[in-house]
Amino acid sequence: MGKVRVRFAPSPTGALHIGGVRTCLYNYLFAKQNGGELIFRIEDTDSTRFVPGAEQYIIESLEWLGIKFDEGVSYGGDHGPYRQSERRDIYRKYVDQLLESGHAYIAFDTAAELEAKRNEIKNFQYDATTRMQMRNSLTMSAAEVKNLIDNGEKYVVRVLIEPNEEIIVHDLIRGDVHVNSSILDDKVLYKSADNLPTYHLANIVDDHLMEVTYVIRGEEWLPSAPLHVLLYRYFGWEESMPQFAHLALLLKPDGNGKLSKRDGDRLGFPVFPLEWHDPKTGDISSGYRESGYLPEAVINFLALLGWNPGNDQELMTMDDLVRLFSLERCSKAGAKFDFEKGKWFNKEYLQLADNHRIALMMMKDIEAAGIHADISMVEDVVKYMKSRVSLIKELWPLCSFFWIAPTGFDEKAVAKRWKPETHSMMCELREKAAAWEDYSDIEGFESYMKAWCEEKGYGLGNVMNPFRLMLVGELKGPAMFELTSILGKEETLRRIDYALSKLN
Ligand code: GLU
Repeated sequence: MGKVRVRFAPSPTGALHIGGVRTCLYNYLFAKQNGGELIFRIEDTDSTRFVPGAEQYIIESLEWLGIKFDEGVSYGGDHGPYRQSERRDIYRKYVDQLLESGHAYIAFDTAAELEAKRNEIKNFQYDATTRMQMRNSLTMSAAEVKNLIDNGEKYVVRVLIEPNEEIIVHDLIRGDVHVNSSILDDKVLYKSADNLPTYHLANIVDDHLMEVTYVIRGEEWLPSAPLHVLLYRYFGWEESMPQFAHLALLLKPDGNGKLSKRDGDRLGFPVFPLEWHDPKTGDISSGYRESGYLPEAVINFLALLGWNPGNDQELMTMDDLVRLFSLERCSKAGAKFDFEKGKWFNKEYLQLADNHRIALMMMKDIEAAGIHADISMVEDVVKYMKSRVSLIKELWPLCSFFWIAPTGFDEKAVAKRWKPETHSMMCELREKAAAWEDYSDIEGFESYMKAWCEEKGYGLGNVMNPFRLMLVGELKGPAMFELTSILGKEETLRRIDYALSKLN
Protein backbone atom coordinates (compact mmCIF):
# COMPACT_ATOMS: atom_id res chain seq x y z
CA MET A 1 0.00 0.00 0.00
CA GLY A 2 1.21 3.50 -0.84
CA LYS A 3 1.57 6.29 1.60
CA VAL A 4 -1.53 7.29 3.55
CA ARG A 5 -2.60 10.81 2.58
CA VAL A 6 -5.59 12.51 4.12
CA ARG A 7 -6.87 16.05 4.03
CA PHE A 8 -8.89 18.51 6.00
CA ALA A 9 -10.68 20.73 3.52
CA PRO A 10 -12.82 23.37 5.18
CA SER A 11 -14.63 26.15 3.39
CA PRO A 12 -13.84 29.56 4.87
CA THR A 13 -17.46 30.46 5.55
CA GLY A 14 -17.17 31.42 9.23
CA ALA A 15 -15.84 30.06 12.48
CA LEU A 16 -14.77 26.43 12.51
CA HIS A 17 -17.49 24.44 14.26
CA ILE A 18 -16.40 22.00 16.96
CA GLY A 19 -17.64 19.13 14.74
CA GLY A 20 -15.20 20.30 12.07
CA VAL A 21 -12.45 20.26 14.65
CA ARG A 22 -13.27 16.65 15.42
CA THR A 23 -13.15 15.76 11.71
CA CYS A 24 -9.73 17.37 11.50
CA LEU A 25 -8.56 15.59 14.64
CA TYR A 26 -9.58 12.17 13.31
CA ASN A 27 -7.75 12.88 10.06
CA TYR A 28 -4.68 13.91 12.04
CA LEU A 29 -4.76 10.82 14.24
CA PHE A 30 -5.24 8.55 11.25
CA ALA A 31 -2.37 10.17 9.35
CA LYS A 32 0.03 10.02 12.30
CA GLN A 33 -0.87 6.47 13.16
CA ASN A 34 -0.09 5.34 9.63
CA GLY A 35 3.01 7.43 9.14
CA GLY A 36 1.04 9.33 6.54
CA GLU A 37 0.50 12.93 5.60
CA LEU A 38 -2.21 15.42 6.44
CA ILE A 39 -3.04 18.15 3.93
CA PHE A 40 -4.74 21.44 4.69
CA ARG A 41 -6.82 22.57 1.73
CA ILE A 42 -9.08 25.61 1.59
CA GLU A 43 -12.25 25.04 -0.44
CA ASP A 44 -13.20 28.58 -1.36
CA THR A 45 -14.87 28.21 -4.74
CA ASP A 46 -18.16 29.65 -3.52
CA SER A 47 -17.39 33.36 -3.41
CA THR A 48 -20.88 34.18 -2.12
CA ARG A 49 -20.15 32.35 1.13
CA PHE A 50 -16.62 33.61 1.66
CA VAL A 51 -16.04 35.24 5.04
CA PRO A 52 -12.90 37.30 5.57
CA GLY A 53 -10.79 36.13 8.49
CA ALA A 54 -12.26 32.62 8.49
CA GLU A 55 -9.16 30.99 7.02
CA GLN A 56 -6.87 32.63 9.56
CA TYR A 57 -9.29 31.63 12.32
CA ILE A 58 -9.16 27.98 11.25
CA ILE A 59 -5.36 28.00 11.16
CA GLU A 60 -5.10 29.61 14.59
CA SER A 61 -7.64 27.21 16.08
CA LEU A 62 -5.84 24.11 14.91
CA GLU A 63 -2.48 25.51 16.00
CA TRP A 64 -3.89 26.13 19.46
CA LEU A 65 -5.08 22.52 19.60
CA GLY A 66 -1.71 21.16 18.52
CA ILE A 67 -2.89 19.75 15.20
CA LYS A 68 -0.13 20.17 12.65
CA PHE A 69 -0.30 19.63 8.93
CA ASP A 70 2.34 18.22 6.64
CA GLU A 71 1.39 20.41 3.72
CA GLY A 72 -1.22 22.90 2.70
CA VAL A 73 -2.26 26.53 3.00
CA SER A 74 0.33 28.28 5.20
CA TYR A 75 2.38 25.06 5.33
CA GLY A 76 3.54 24.76 1.70
CA GLY A 77 4.25 21.50 -0.12
CA ASP A 78 4.58 20.26 -3.66
CA HIS A 79 0.93 19.66 -4.48
CA GLY A 80 0.01 23.33 -4.25
CA PRO A 81 -1.49 25.80 -4.50
CA TYR A 82 -3.77 24.56 -1.74
CA ARG A 83 -6.41 27.28 -1.98
CA GLN A 84 -8.96 26.27 -4.61
CA SER A 85 -9.50 29.84 -5.77
CA GLU A 86 -5.85 29.77 -6.86
CA ARG A 87 -6.29 26.59 -8.91
CA ARG A 88 -8.60 27.94 -11.64
CA ASP A 89 -6.24 27.02 -14.46
CA ILE A 90 -5.87 23.49 -13.19
CA TYR A 91 -9.61 22.76 -13.20
CA ARG A 92 -10.44 23.99 -16.70
CA LYS A 93 -8.80 20.98 -18.31
CA TYR A 94 -10.92 18.55 -16.29
CA VAL A 95 -14.12 20.37 -17.13
CA ASP A 96 -13.21 20.02 -20.81
CA GLN A 97 -12.38 16.34 -20.35
CA LEU A 98 -15.89 15.65 -19.06
CA LEU A 99 -17.46 17.70 -21.84
CA GLU A 100 -15.49 15.84 -24.47
CA SER A 101 -16.29 12.40 -23.08
CA GLY A 102 -19.98 13.28 -22.94
CA HIS A 103 -20.21 13.03 -19.16
CA ALA A 104 -21.06 16.69 -18.89
CA TYR A 105 -22.86 19.33 -20.92
CA ILE A 106 -23.28 23.07 -21.10
CA ALA A 107 -26.48 24.66 -19.82
CA PHE A 108 -27.72 28.23 -20.30
CA ASP A 109 -30.89 28.19 -18.21
CA THR A 110 -31.20 31.40 -16.27
CA ALA A 111 -32.29 31.59 -12.64
CA ALA A 112 -35.70 32.80 -13.80
CA GLU A 113 -36.09 29.93 -16.24
CA LEU A 114 -35.18 27.39 -13.58
CA GLU A 115 -37.63 29.00 -11.20
CA ALA A 116 -40.39 28.78 -13.83
CA LYS A 117 -39.67 25.07 -14.29
CA ARG A 118 -39.83 24.52 -10.57
CA ASN A 119 -43.27 26.09 -10.51
CA GLU A 120 -44.39 24.04 -13.50
CA ILE A 121 -43.06 20.65 -12.37
CA LYS A 122 -43.55 19.43 -8.83
CA ASN A 123 -40.26 18.39 -7.17
CA PHE A 124 -38.38 19.49 -10.24
CA GLN A 125 -34.91 18.09 -10.57
CA TYR A 126 -32.49 18.73 -13.43
CA ASP A 127 -31.96 15.15 -14.59
CA ALA A 128 -32.70 12.53 -17.26
CA THR A 129 -36.44 13.19 -16.95
CA THR A 130 -36.20 16.93 -17.53
CA ARG A 131 -32.92 17.86 -19.18
CA MET A 132 -34.31 17.56 -22.69
CA GLN A 133 -36.82 20.31 -21.90
CA MET A 134 -34.09 22.75 -20.93
CA ARG A 135 -31.75 25.17 -22.70
CA ASN A 136 -28.54 23.23 -22.96
CA SER A 137 -26.02 21.73 -25.35
CA LEU A 138 -28.10 18.55 -25.52
CA THR A 139 -31.11 20.40 -26.90
CA MET A 140 -29.31 23.01 -29.02
CA SER A 141 -27.10 22.74 -32.04
CA ALA A 142 -23.36 23.09 -31.65
CA ALA A 143 -23.48 26.29 -33.67
CA GLU A 144 -26.11 27.78 -31.36
CA VAL A 145 -24.07 26.88 -28.31
CA LYS A 146 -20.94 28.38 -29.77
CA ASN A 147 -22.79 31.50 -30.73
CA LEU A 148 -24.17 32.05 -27.24
CA ILE A 149 -20.77 31.52 -25.65
CA ASP A 150 -19.10 33.86 -28.13
CA ASN A 151 -21.72 36.47 -27.26
CA GLY A 152 -20.67 36.23 -23.63
CA GLU A 153 -23.78 34.44 -22.39
CA LYS A 154 -23.21 32.96 -18.92
CA TYR A 155 -23.40 29.20 -18.69
CA VAL A 156 -22.76 26.33 -16.35
CA VAL A 157 -21.42 22.85 -16.95
CA ARG A 158 -23.59 20.07 -15.57
CA VAL A 159 -22.69 16.45 -15.02
CA LEU A 160 -24.77 14.05 -17.10
CA ILE A 161 -26.05 11.36 -14.79
CA GLU A 162 -27.24 8.19 -16.50
CA PRO A 163 -30.41 6.99 -14.78
CA ASN A 164 -30.89 3.61 -13.15
CA GLU A 165 -27.33 2.78 -12.42
CA GLU A 166 -26.31 1.17 -9.20
CA ILE A 167 -23.70 3.20 -7.34
CA ILE A 168 -21.97 1.75 -4.31
CA VAL A 169 -20.11 3.92 -1.85
CA HIS A 170 -17.78 1.74 0.20
CA ASP A 171 -17.62 3.45 3.54
CA LEU A 172 -15.21 2.29 6.23
CA ILE A 173 -17.65 3.25 8.99
CA ARG A 174 -21.00 2.57 7.38
CA GLY A 175 -20.21 -0.35 5.12
CA ASP A 176 -21.55 -0.35 1.57
CA VAL A 177 -24.10 2.35 0.81
CA HIS A 178 -26.15 1.55 -2.31
CA VAL A 179 -27.70 4.35 -4.30
CA ASN A 180 -29.63 4.34 -7.56
CA SER A 181 -28.33 7.06 -9.85
CA SER A 182 -31.90 8.11 -10.74
CA ILE A 183 -32.21 9.98 -7.47
CA LEU A 184 -29.24 12.19 -8.34
CA ASP A 185 -29.52 15.42 -10.28
CA ASP A 186 -27.22 16.83 -12.93
CA LYS A 187 -25.21 18.91 -10.51
CA VAL A 188 -23.45 22.04 -11.64
CA LEU A 189 -19.71 21.37 -11.86
CA TYR A 190 -18.52 24.67 -13.24
CA LYS A 191 -19.77 28.24 -13.59
CA SER A 192 -18.50 30.46 -16.38
CA ALA A 193 -19.55 33.52 -14.39
CA ASP A 194 -16.61 33.19 -12.01
CA ASN A 195 -14.56 30.75 -14.07
CA LEU A 196 -14.50 28.34 -11.16
CA PRO A 197 -15.65 24.80 -10.60
CA THR A 198 -18.13 24.06 -7.85
CA TYR A 199 -17.31 22.08 -4.74
CA HIS A 200 -17.99 18.68 -6.34
CA LEU A 201 -15.57 19.00 -9.21
CA ALA A 202 -12.84 20.84 -7.32
CA ASN A 203 -13.04 18.38 -4.43
CA ILE A 204 -12.61 15.33 -6.68
CA VAL A 205 -9.92 16.81 -8.90
CA ASP A 206 -7.94 17.99 -5.90
CA ASP A 207 -8.23 14.74 -4.00
CA HIS A 208 -6.94 13.02 -7.10
CA LEU A 209 -4.10 15.44 -7.84
CA MET A 210 -3.10 15.65 -4.19
CA GLU A 211 -3.01 11.86 -4.07
CA VAL A 212 -5.46 11.58 -1.22
CA THR A 213 -5.98 7.97 -0.18
CA TYR A 214 -8.66 8.39 2.51
CA VAL A 215 -11.51 10.87 2.70
CA ILE A 216 -12.57 11.19 6.32
CA ARG A 217 -15.31 13.77 6.68
CA GLY A 218 -18.64 14.57 8.28
CA GLU A 219 -21.80 12.65 7.57
CA GLU A 220 -23.32 15.73 5.98
CA TRP A 221 -21.17 14.96 2.93
CA LEU A 222 -22.43 11.41 2.50
CA PRO A 223 -25.17 12.50 0.05
CA SER A 224 -22.42 13.89 -2.21
CA ALA A 225 -20.42 10.67 -2.18
CA PRO A 226 -22.35 8.81 -4.94
CA LEU A 227 -21.67 11.68 -7.33
CA HIS A 228 -18.05 11.65 -6.28
CA VAL A 229 -17.82 7.93 -7.01
CA LEU A 230 -19.33 8.57 -10.44
CA LEU A 231 -16.88 11.37 -11.16
CA TYR A 232 -13.99 9.07 -10.35
CA ARG A 233 -15.46 6.64 -12.86
CA TYR A 234 -15.97 9.32 -15.54
CA PHE A 235 -12.41 10.54 -15.17
CA GLY A 236 -11.09 6.99 -15.29
CA TRP A 237 -9.53 7.30 -11.85
CA GLU A 238 -11.33 4.42 -10.15
CA GLU A 239 -8.06 2.67 -9.44
CA SER A 240 -6.86 5.47 -7.23
CA MET A 241 -10.20 6.41 -5.70
CA PRO A 242 -9.77 7.21 -2.00
CA GLN A 243 -11.55 5.17 0.65
CA PHE A 244 -14.43 6.96 2.29
CA ALA A 245 -15.25 7.27 5.98
CA HIS A 246 -18.19 9.46 6.94
CA LEU A 247 -18.28 10.41 10.60
CA ALA A 248 -21.58 10.48 12.45
CA LEU A 249 -22.95 13.81 13.57
CA LEU A 250 -22.43 15.53 16.88
CA LEU A 251 -25.88 15.77 18.48
CA LYS A 252 -27.52 18.24 20.82
CA PRO A 253 -26.84 17.55 24.51
CA ASP A 254 -30.58 17.32 25.05
CA GLY A 255 -33.04 15.86 22.57
CA ASN A 256 -32.26 14.89 19.01
CA GLY A 257 -30.78 16.69 16.08
CA LYS A 258 -27.52 18.20 15.08
CA LEU A 259 -25.55 20.28 17.56
CA SER A 260 -25.91 23.94 16.66
CA LYS A 261 -24.50 27.22 17.82
CA ARG A 262 -27.90 27.98 19.32
CA ASP A 263 -27.60 24.95 21.64
CA GLY A 264 -24.36 26.39 22.93
CA ASP A 265 -25.92 29.80 23.54
CA ARG A 266 -28.97 28.23 25.16
CA LEU A 267 -27.05 25.89 27.48
CA GLY A 268 -23.96 28.00 28.02
CA PHE A 269 -21.05 26.29 26.31
CA PRO A 270 -18.90 27.20 23.30
CA VAL A 271 -19.26 25.44 19.97
CA PHE A 272 -16.15 27.08 18.53
CA PRO A 273 -12.52 26.46 19.48
CA LEU A 274 -11.66 30.17 19.74
CA GLU A 275 -13.76 33.24 20.31
CA TRP A 276 -15.21 34.34 17.00
CA HIS A 277 -16.00 37.89 15.96
CA ASP A 278 -18.41 37.69 13.06
CA PRO A 279 -17.28 40.37 10.58
CA LYS A 280 -20.77 40.64 9.06
CA THR A 281 -23.01 40.83 12.11
CA GLY A 282 -20.46 41.96 14.68
CA ASP A 283 -21.65 39.14 16.95
CA ILE A 284 -19.11 37.61 19.29
CA SER A 285 -19.31 33.89 19.99
CA SER A 286 -17.44 32.29 22.86
CA GLY A 287 -14.56 29.91 22.30
CA TYR A 288 -13.03 27.06 24.28
CA ARG A 289 -9.72 28.87 24.61
CA GLU A 290 -11.19 32.07 26.03
CA SER A 291 -13.57 30.11 28.25
CA GLY A 292 -10.63 28.64 30.14
CA TYR A 293 -10.16 25.24 28.55
CA LEU A 294 -6.83 23.58 27.95
CA PRO A 295 -6.27 22.41 24.38
CA GLU A 296 -5.32 18.90 25.50
CA ALA A 297 -8.62 18.59 27.36
CA VAL A 298 -10.60 19.68 24.30
CA ILE A 299 -8.71 17.16 22.17
CA ASN A 300 -9.35 14.30 24.58
CA PHE A 301 -13.01 15.21 24.95
CA LEU A 302 -13.57 15.51 21.19
CA ALA A 303 -11.74 12.29 20.41
CA LEU A 304 -14.28 10.38 22.46
CA LEU A 305 -17.29 11.92 20.75
CA GLY A 306 -17.92 9.23 18.19
CA TRP A 307 -15.00 6.94 18.89
CA ASN A 308 -13.85 4.84 21.84
CA PRO A 309 -10.73 2.82 22.51
CA GLY A 310 -12.70 -0.36 23.20
CA ASN A 311 -12.35 -0.15 26.96
CA ASP A 312 -13.29 2.43 29.55
CA GLN A 313 -10.07 4.40 29.44
CA GLU A 314 -10.92 8.08 29.33
CA LEU A 315 -7.78 10.13 29.80
CA MET A 316 -5.61 9.98 26.72
CA THR A 317 -2.89 12.28 25.46
CA MET A 318 -2.48 13.05 21.78
CA ASP A 319 0.21 10.34 21.61
CA ASP A 320 -2.13 7.80 23.21
CA LEU A 321 -4.83 8.76 20.75
CA VAL A 322 -2.49 8.38 17.79
CA ARG A 323 -1.71 4.88 18.99
CA LEU A 324 -5.26 3.84 19.84
CA PHE A 325 -7.45 5.50 17.22
CA SER A 326 -9.19 3.39 14.63
CA LEU A 327 -11.84 4.13 12.03
CA GLU A 328 -13.42 0.72 12.78
CA ARG A 329 -14.26 1.94 16.26
CA CYS A 330 -15.97 5.11 15.04
CA SER A 331 -19.64 4.83 15.68
CA LYS A 332 -22.36 4.93 13.07
CA ALA A 333 -24.72 6.62 15.48
CA GLY A 334 -24.44 10.30 16.35
CA ALA A 335 -22.66 11.29 19.56
CA LYS A 336 -24.44 13.43 22.11
CA PHE A 337 -22.41 16.50 22.94
CA ASP A 338 -22.01 16.19 26.71
CA PHE A 339 -20.43 19.51 27.67
CA GLU A 340 -20.40 18.65 31.38
CA LYS A 341 -18.07 15.84 30.43
CA GLY A 342 -15.96 18.39 28.61
CA LYS A 343 -15.63 20.35 31.83
CA TRP A 344 -14.72 17.18 33.67
CA PHE A 345 -11.89 16.54 31.23
CA ASN A 346 -10.67 20.07 31.70
CA LYS A 347 -10.63 19.67 35.47
CA GLU A 348 -8.59 16.50 35.12
CA TYR A 349 -6.08 18.13 32.78
CA LEU A 350 -5.80 21.20 34.98
CA GLN A 351 -4.54 18.99 37.80
CA LEU A 352 -1.94 17.46 35.48
CA ALA A 353 -0.88 20.73 33.91
CA ASP A 354 2.25 22.63 34.83
CA ASN A 355 1.37 25.34 37.35
CA HIS A 356 3.53 27.94 35.69
CA ARG A 357 1.61 27.50 32.45
CA ILE A 358 -1.74 27.89 34.23
CA ALA A 359 -0.38 30.88 36.16
CA LEU A 360 0.45 32.64 32.91
CA MET A 361 -3.13 32.10 31.76
CA MET A 362 -4.58 33.27 35.06
CA MET A 363 -2.31 36.30 34.93
CA LYS A 364 -4.37 37.69 32.05
CA ASP A 365 -7.48 37.82 34.25
CA ILE A 366 -5.51 39.36 37.11
CA GLU A 367 -4.10 42.05 34.88
CA ALA A 368 -7.54 42.69 33.39
CA ALA A 369 -8.67 43.45 36.96
CA GLY A 370 -5.95 46.10 37.14
CA ILE A 371 -3.76 44.21 39.55
CA HIS A 372 -0.06 43.78 39.26
CA ALA A 373 0.81 40.32 40.50
CA ASP A 374 4.03 38.48 41.01
CA ILE A 375 4.17 35.34 38.85
CA SER A 376 5.62 33.17 41.60
CA MET A 377 2.73 34.08 43.89
CA VAL A 378 0.24 33.33 41.10
CA GLU A 379 1.92 29.98 40.70
CA ASP A 380 1.47 29.20 44.39
CA VAL A 381 -2.17 30.20 44.26
CA VAL A 382 -2.65 27.93 41.24
CA LYS A 383 -0.90 25.10 43.04
CA TYR A 384 -3.24 25.19 46.04
CA MET A 385 -6.45 26.32 44.37
CA LYS A 386 -6.65 24.64 40.98
CA SER A 387 -8.20 21.48 42.37
CA ARG A 388 -11.30 23.54 43.13
CA VAL A 389 -12.09 24.68 39.61
CA SER A 390 -12.90 23.15 36.24
CA LEU A 391 -12.02 26.14 34.10
CA ILE A 392 -9.05 28.50 34.27
CA LYS A 393 -11.30 31.54 34.20
CA GLU A 394 -12.93 30.37 37.45
CA LEU A 395 -9.63 30.85 39.27
CA TRP A 396 -9.54 34.62 39.47
CA PRO A 397 -13.01 35.18 41.01
CA LEU A 398 -12.29 32.40 43.48
CA CYS A 399 -8.83 33.68 44.39
CA SER A 400 -9.01 37.46 44.14
CA PHE A 401 -8.73 37.73 47.95
CA PHE A 402 -5.08 36.79 47.74
CA TRP A 403 -4.44 40.17 46.14
CA ILE A 404 -7.34 42.18 47.42
CA ALA A 405 -7.31 42.38 51.24
CA PRO A 406 -10.74 42.26 52.87
CA THR A 407 -12.31 45.59 53.72
CA GLY A 408 -15.39 44.00 55.24
CA PHE A 409 -16.20 40.74 56.95
CA ASP A 410 -18.94 38.28 56.14
CA GLU A 411 -21.66 39.01 58.70
CA LYS A 412 -22.94 35.49 59.09
CA ALA A 413 -19.44 34.18 59.64
CA VAL A 414 -18.73 36.90 62.19
CA ALA A 415 -21.96 36.17 64.06
CA LYS A 416 -21.07 32.51 64.19
CA ARG A 417 -17.31 32.58 64.71
CA TRP A 418 -16.42 35.87 66.40
CA LYS A 419 -17.28 35.21 70.01
CA PRO A 420 -16.78 37.51 73.03
CA GLU A 421 -13.43 35.90 73.83
CA THR A 422 -12.22 35.82 70.21
CA HIS A 423 -10.72 39.30 70.08
CA SER A 424 -8.25 38.75 72.88
CA MET A 425 -7.45 35.29 71.54
CA MET A 426 -6.65 36.80 68.15
CA CYS A 427 -4.47 39.46 69.79
CA GLU A 428 -2.45 36.66 71.30
CA LEU A 429 -2.39 34.89 67.95
CA ARG A 430 -0.95 38.03 66.40
CA GLU A 431 1.90 37.95 68.90
CA LYS A 432 2.62 34.34 68.09
CA ALA A 433 2.41 34.98 64.34
CA ALA A 434 4.78 37.94 64.61
CA ALA A 435 7.31 35.78 66.43
CA TRP A 436 7.42 33.15 63.65
CA GLU A 437 9.76 33.88 60.77
CA ASP A 438 9.52 31.37 57.96
CA TYR A 439 6.00 31.50 56.50
CA SER A 440 6.99 29.33 53.59
CA ASP A 441 7.52 26.47 56.04
CA ILE A 442 3.87 25.39 55.97
CA GLU A 443 4.19 22.40 58.28
CA GLY A 444 6.52 24.17 60.70
CA PHE A 445 4.21 27.14 61.13
CA GLU A 446 1.20 24.85 61.47
CA SER A 447 2.68 22.71 64.25
CA TYR A 448 3.96 25.82 66.00
CA MET A 449 0.46 27.37 66.05
CA LYS A 450 -1.20 24.11 66.98
CA ALA A 451 1.20 23.58 69.85
CA TRP A 452 0.28 27.03 71.11
CA CYS A 453 -3.47 26.20 70.93
CA GLU A 454 -2.91 23.00 72.80
CA GLU A 455 -0.81 24.68 75.44
CA LYS A 456 -3.55 27.28 75.92
CA GLY A 457 -6.37 24.75 75.74
CA TYR A 458 -7.93 26.62 72.82
CA GLY A 459 -10.13 24.58 70.51
CA LEU A 460 -8.68 24.49 66.99
CA GLY A 461 -11.95 25.55 65.38
CA ASN A 462 -12.25 28.52 67.71
CA VAL A 463 -8.84 29.73 66.57
CA MET A 464 -8.60 28.78 62.91
CA ASN A 465 -12.01 30.06 61.83
CA PRO A 466 -11.56 33.60 63.11
CA PHE A 467 -7.95 33.53 61.87
CA ARG A 468 -9.20 32.71 58.39
CA LEU A 469 -11.96 35.31 58.67
CA MET A 470 -9.36 37.98 59.41
CA LEU A 471 -7.26 37.06 56.38
CA VAL A 472 -9.97 36.38 53.82
CA GLY A 473 -13.02 38.27 55.03
CA GLU A 474 -15.06 35.10 54.83
CA LEU A 475 -14.66 31.41 55.59
CA LYS A 476 -13.20 30.23 52.30
CA GLY A 477 -9.80 29.61 50.80
CA PRO A 478 -7.16 26.92 50.88
CA ALA A 479 -5.79 25.16 53.96
CA MET A 480 -4.94 27.73 56.64
CA PHE A 481 -1.17 27.54 56.45
CA GLU A 482 -1.08 27.29 52.68
CA LEU A 483 -2.92 30.59 52.85
CA THR A 484 -0.36 32.21 55.16
CA SER A 485 2.50 30.82 53.10
CA ILE A 486 1.13 32.59 50.03
CA LEU A 487 0.30 35.87 51.78
CA GLY A 488 3.62 35.94 53.60
CA LYS A 489 4.36 37.37 57.00
CA GLU A 490 3.98 41.06 56.29
CA GLU A 491 0.62 40.80 54.56
CA THR A 492 -0.71 38.30 57.11
CA LEU A 493 0.10 40.64 60.00
CA ARG A 494 -1.31 43.64 58.14
CA ARG A 495 -4.62 41.83 57.59
CA ILE A 496 -4.75 40.72 61.20
CA ASP A 497 -4.21 44.28 62.41
CA TYR A 498 -6.90 45.64 60.15
CA ALA A 499 -9.39 42.94 61.23
CA LEU A 500 -8.65 43.48 64.91
CA SER A 501 -9.35 47.19 64.49
CA LYS A 502 -12.65 46.48 62.72
CA LEU A 503 -13.95 43.50 64.66
CA ASN A 504 -13.72 44.96 68.12
N1 GLU B 1 -15.34 21.91 1.90
C1 GLU B 1 -16.05 20.88 2.59
C2 GLU B 1 -16.33 21.39 4.00
O1 GLU B 1 -16.43 22.56 4.16
C3 GLU B 1 -15.23 19.63 2.61
C4 GLU B 1 -15.99 18.38 2.45
C5 GLU B 1 -15.03 17.23 2.23
O2 GLU B 1 -14.22 16.99 3.12
O3 GLU B 1 -15.06 16.60 1.19
O4 GLU B 1 -16.46 20.66 4.94
